[in-house]
Amino acid sequence: MEERNGAGNGSEEKLSKSEEQAAIDRMPFQNYRIADTEILKTIEGRTCCESCRKSRKYFCYTCCTPVIDRRYFPRVKLPIKIDIIKHPNEVDGKSTAIHAAILAPDDVTIYRYPEFPKTLNKEETILIFPSKDASSIEALFAESVKEGDTSVERDLQAEFPVKRAIFIDSTWQQTKQIYRDKRFRGIRCVILKSRISQFWRHQKKSPRWYLATIEAIHQFLVELHSCVFGRVEGYATDLGSAVSNGERDSVANDERANGCTEVDRRYNGQYDNLLYFFKYMYYEIHTMYNHDDLLAYKRPLT
Ligand SMILES: [Zn+2]
Repeated sequence: MEERNGAGNGSEEKLSKSEEQAAIDRMPFQNYRIADTEILKTIEGRTCCESCRKSRKYFCYTCCTPVIDRRYFPRVKLPIKIDIIKHPNEVDGKSTAIHAAILAPDDVTIYRYPEFPKTLNKEETILIFPSKDASSIEALFAESVKEGDTSVERDLQAEFPVKRAIFIDSTWQQTKQIYRDKRFRGIRCVILKSRISQFWRHQKKSPRWYLATIEAIHQFLVELHSCVFGRVEGYATDLGSAVSNGERDSVANDERANGCTEVDRRYNGQYDNLLYFFKYMYYEIHTMYNHDDLLAYKRPLT
C-alpha cells in the first residue's frame, strides 16, 4: 500500500486516531468484565428514599444509598479507600461519583465541599489532580520500592504504595478552585494516563480525555493494581497504552514455570464492576440518541 509508506502527514494520523476511536465507541465496554446489567431493565417505576422521602429510580444521590434491592447490582471491594470531594454547586443527579459509593460502599466516601476527610495521613494519601509536580502512578510505585530495602522488595510488591486516594468531583474550573484549599498542601498529586471518556454528558471546553469521576476512579485503580501485581495479557486492549505490563507478566510466567502456586493477583477486571451503572446508563442514552449526534462525543480527542 503506497500511502502507508513514509511518515505520513498530520491529517492522516488524526484520521486514523478518530477511526480507531470510532471502532472503540461502537462497543466501548466489550473488553471489561462488567456484570450483566439487563436485570436493571426489570425495575419499573420509582421508589421513595427511606431517608429523605424523595422519589428515586436506582439510588438516592442525596443520601448516597440504593433504593433497589442488593441483588440488582454487584459489590466491589477496593484495595484502598477512596474519598470524593464534590463541589456544592455540582448537580447531584448528573454526577457519576455516586456510582462508586453505591457499588463499593465499604471503601468510598463522598464529601460536600468544604466538608473534608477528617483524619488524613498525608504520607499515605494521594490526590488525583494534574498539578505541576504531579507524578504518574508508576513513578509513585517506583519511589516506594526505591526507599525500601531491596531484600524486602517482594513484600513491597504485595503492598499498595498508598492507602487513600482523593478525587475532586466537579467541572474543571471548580476543581481548580477546590485544589487551592490549604488542607491539600503536603498531599502528593497523581496524574492518570490518558483515556478517552465515554461520558454522555457534554461539558463545554473539555476534551474527551476529561473523564467522568467513575471512569477516573476505575482508570486509577486499574493503573494502581497493575503497577503492584501486573496485568493479565489481553485484558482491555483499548487500555493498551495505559499500563505497561510486560515486565511483571514475565515475572508471573517465571513463577508458574517454577511450579509456584501463588494465586494470580494480576489485574483481570477486578474493579470493572465500578462501571456497572455507567455502562447501563450509557446504553440507555444510546437507545434514545444516536451516538454521532451527541455533543459529548464530538469533543476533541486531544
Ligand atoms: Zn434520599
